[in-house]
Amino acid sequence: MKTCVVIGGGIGGLVTGALLAKEGYKVTVLEKNAIIGGGLQTFKRNGVRFPTGMHIFGGFQEGGNLRKIFAYLGVLDKVTLQPMDANASDVVTMMSTGETYSLPQGKERLITYLSERFPAEKEHIRAYIDRLFELSEEEDLFYLREAPAEHPSHSDDFLGSVDELRDQYITDPKLKALLGYLIPLFGGDPQTTPAYIHALLSTLHINGTFQFVDESQQLAEALADVMEDAGGQVIANEEVVKIKVENHAITKVVTKKGNVYQADSYISDVHPDVLLRIIDPQAFTTAFKTRIQSVPETMSSFKVFVKFKEQAFLYQNHSHFCLSEDDVWPQQLMFVTPPVARQGDFAETMVLIAPMDFSEVKAWEDTRTGHRGEAYERWKQAKTDLVLDRMERLYPDFRNHIDFVFASSPLTIRDYYGNKEGSNYGFQKDSRNLMLSQMSVATKVKNLYLTGQNVNIHGLCGVTLTAIETAEALVGQNAIIRKINKFCPNHP
Ligand SMILES: Cc1cc2nc3c(=O)[nH]c(=O)nc-3n(C[C@H](O)[C@H](O)[C@H](O)COP(=O)(O)OP(=O)(O)OC[C@H]3O[C@@H](n4cnc5c(N)ncnc54)[C@H](O)[C@@H]3O)c2cc1C
Repeated sequence: MKTCVVIGGGIGGLVTGALLAKEGYKVTVLEKNAIIGGGLQTFKRNGVRFPTGMHIFGGFQEGGNLRKIFAYLGVLDKVTLQPMDANASDVVTMMSTGETYSLPQGKERLITYLSERFPAEKEHIRAYIDRLFELSEEEDLFYLREAPAEHPSHSDDFLGSVDELRDQYITDPKLKALLGYLIPLFGGDPQTTPAYIHALLSTLHINGTFQFVDESQQLAEALADVMEDAGGQVIANEEVVKIKVENHAITKVVTKKGNVYQADSYISDVHPDVLLRIIDPQAFTTAFKTRIQSVPETMSSFKVFVKFKEQAFLYQNHSHFCLSEDDVWPQQLMFVTPPVARQGDFAETMVLIAPMDFSEVKAWEDTRTGHRGEAYERWKQAKTDLVLDRMERLYPDFRNHIDFVFASSPLTIRDYYGNKEGSNYGFQKDSRNLMLSQMSVATKVKNLYLTGQNVNIHGLCGVTLTAIETAEALVGQNAIIRKINKFCPNHP
């Protein structure tokens, strides 16, 4: 049996490990936290469950890429998913005017909806949304098509920025802002984020988004079962602190507890910055290390977690995005009311996410969770109040519905995931210099491969697709894609 050690038990590590387990590998996943899952992990506060980094995601509609992949892995029936409201899956409020748009799912329905509200832009809206879908078609993996033998070439629009794409089609500034509602909350900047990332993300949302019912942790556990059923193991509380390299190959990894693990191949799901800190210094050239350290990170976020009083706040089966152009933080805010089993009319909890730069918490960067001091707690309370003030503009009396509320900051995210500067989505991709953040799944260290959000695109979909690339680097190009498509022959 071939063996593989995976460093980091986030989505990337778990999906890559599960795919390799299906290929006959004995996989050992080493995760530093007490609970596996990375962004899939859920936690409890006062007995109430809250998600950490997985709120909405696409790809699970009939024929969707994630639906096929997780069906192939045998975990689809082990997770409970809820589709968002087809008539209004993403709701967008422009805070400056109070106008709210309830965006329906489905390409044609969305085009009709937007055309009715912006009649002067009717033709442009169709052309723009058609173009988003065309750009998504340039990414074979997104449609689970086999990788071509030749390196694929891409259109100028694919590699250009979001602004360059939008400006070709849309003139109304309000419509431009509305069509870009996903960009800042998913770590992008319209001036620099490559249009293809925006196209893939938008396509996922237009085709329909989903939420986990109760907890996203179920997916992490189900993926761990795939590895364990194949003779592997997934070990929590096992932080890798040293990766030993000899003759350009890893010979062993050592954990904080002093345990040693050896395998034929090694996969890193940790942030490349963490990898460079724990691997032998001679493993990579100084030029490579300097490049990795110079890649800008995506924005972090401030999160507010709310537990409502009983029957106080109506459950919403959509994600709500608030956009504001004024100078007062939070300029953007997204919130969801995560569904629970036998969800009734009222929401149990709400999670609110506002992008935040790491510089806001720099003063406390050398502190640890629970020991950051009073000034930090005061700062956190002030930020929580700003978020709740914003909610009171949407729902007067919002505070009165709250049973308890608490918040997390970019420091929480940094310490929990081991991400540089608490970055939500890893490396920032920049259309002006795509090569800078471009990572290959294979590395100069012969038996080391990379997976996870820094390699290509973040999120459940992006990371899962990259996991296929990583696993195929070990078992052969297209070997897994072919099996997934064979397993799901009836889907387009
Ligand atoms: C606030 C927030 C909200 C988000 N919301 C969404 C959303 O709604 N939808 C969506 O699709 N995506 C969302 N994302 C993004 C998504 O969570 C990530 O893209 C995804 O979880 C990344 O997976 P990964 O495997 O690359 O990394 P991670 O999940 O970060 O996994 C890396 C793992 O490695 C572990 N690790 C680190 N160092 C070591 C070490 N030395 N030894 C062993 N283990 C180690 C970490 O503990 C972690 O578990 C969100 C992210 C954040 C931060």
